[in-house]
Amino acid sequence: MNSLHLKNFTRCKRKAWLDFKGKKSYEVWSPHKAIDKINQFQIFSEFCNGEIYTGLKACKNGYQGVIGLKIKGNLFQNINAEIRPQLLVKTKGKSKWGQYKYLPAVYKLGHKTTKEHLFDLAFCSMLLESFQQSKIEKGLVISTFDKKVKVEEIYLNKKLRKKVLNVLLNLNECLEGSLPEITQDRKKCTICSWQKFCDKEAKENGYLTDIDGIGSKTASLLKAKGITNTQTLASCNAKQLGEKLSKFNDQKYEKASIFVKQAQAYISGEPCFISNNNTEDLLEKICSGFYVFDIESNPDEKHNFLYGFLKVNNLSIKKEDLIYEPILNLKNNTGESYRQIIEILFSHKEWPVLHYGETEKISIINIAKELNFSFEEIDLLASRFIDLHTLIRKSWILPLKNYGLKTVSNWLGFEWVQKNVSGSKALYWWIQYQITENEIFLKKIIQYNKDDCLATLKISEYLIKDQLKKN
Ligand code: SF4
Repeated sequence: MNSLHLKNFTRCKRKAWLDFKGKKSYEVWSPHKAIDKINQFQIFSEFCNGEIYTGLKACKNGYQGVIGLKIKGNLFQNINAEIRPQLLVKTKGKSKWGQYKYLPAVYKLGHKTTKEHLFDLAFCSMLLESFQQSKIEKGLVISTFDKKVKVEEIYLNKKLRKKVLNVLLNLNECLEGSLPEITQDRKKCTICSWQKFCDKEAKENGYLTDIDGIGSKTASLLKAKGITNTQTLASCNAKQLGEKLSKFNDQKYEKASIFVKQAQAYISGEPCFISNNNTEDLLEKICSGFYVFDIESNPDEKHNFLYGFLKVNNLSIKKEDLIYEPILNLKNNTGESYRQIIEILFSHKEWPVLHYGETEKISIINIAKELNFSFEEIDLLASRFIDLHTLIRKSWILPLKNYGLKTVSNWLGFEWVQKNVSGSKALYWWIQYQITENEIFLKKIIQYNKDDCLATLKISEYLIKDQLKKN
């Protein structure tokens, strides 16, 4: 077992097991992992003033930062372990290499220091101490805040070390045993490289957490009431189920009815129509032209690097004749891109702006505020935005696990020109562009954004299909 297994074990036991014993062909490349690695390296490099080198030789030479080291050792008599410290930082002391020693350091994304970070540091210190023949009192958690490097010192006391030893024993037992169950908290799965593999098994076994709106807590509640899988849920009487869901208070019957319908749709593969209250005037609103709008951003840096507009003059226009306008905001110097965005939006003042999810509308309102628009102007602008994500959820129950843009439009038959793409892949390309300045990454991002707009358009067509038939 190694540091990576420990890190994953604290998140999901099954992931640690799959990383150790799983068939690698079932694993899918994860942009999150790659983004994490790049960010990690950049921050470590900044922290060590660029003096960062790889491997054992770097330790012997006494460089400030050392990465890529693997150290093997024995934890107990019969358990072999390997640490892969994310970074070793030189500090005062005495070790087998001379008048200095190393401390382990980990990278942290976000504000919260979790047990994952603490365990990693403690585990690393255990094997590193005997390897460098020097005691380690503390480890470092390195992160960035407001573009500045932040360092937190963690004291690796006896209590923490004891705790980690226990976790390592459990990890060892897990890795020697059979494949653990899928995690209850399926939110963790969204960035996991084994997601496809686990999703297949979850569907085959009728996991309740496959049903949109059912998280780990609701799933446990339903199980306690004897509803153990999607099949049983689909055959429930909604009213009787509502009685059992008192935790949802006034919403219990409504929730129960949606859960049952969602389970029925998921099993049958057939969508279920709920209401046209929210979409009945959509056709009228968009028939004289509209924009489809989508943003690509780096949330950690609060930087929207691409604003994409698809201009749809009328519904009968062929897809290949649509005009797509990408507005790049490469340096986050907002002035020029804001001017272009406003110019596009106001070149057709009456046109609605279709988007998927709330981000786009919020961003435009913020731009309008920064440009000192009056309240009335902001209200008028905001009223042009139509969120298709909200509309589809209010109008249809779809036979899907979630209502994300990719999931819904894929189900409608839409295909992205580039295969296996996602928002995080676009972010990965963006980070690659920033490092290399190679235009090819921008082209990929623009193509991806254009496809996101076309996918949104596809969903709008689905929402108005019945109104079109009537006309
Ligand atoms: S997809 Fe989910 S259940 Fe499967 S290994 Fe990853 S986190 Fe665990």
